[in-house]
Amino acid sequence: MTAQEDMPEIPVVCTACETRTQVPFEDVEGAVARHNEQLHDGEAVAEVDPDVLDALTDQLGREMGLFDDDPNT
Ligand SMILES: [Zn+2]
Repeated sequence: MTAQEDMPEIPVVCTACETRTQVPFEDVEGAVARHNEQLHDGEAVAEVDPDVLDALTDQLGREMGLFDDDPNT
């Protein structure tokens, strides 16, 4: 296992700038906010790639589900 697998990079897309940037997972919220503040007057233009966000949420949900088997522990 590598550190990269622990901390996946998340694609942030901005339709206005036509950019797609890989951002470390831990920094993704800040990166999106910074981009929108600096380039779009705070409008929520840039966002995490919706497809990736879906897949990630799904994956995280399933991983957490593994630990939720016994809620009494
Ligand atoms: Zn932009």
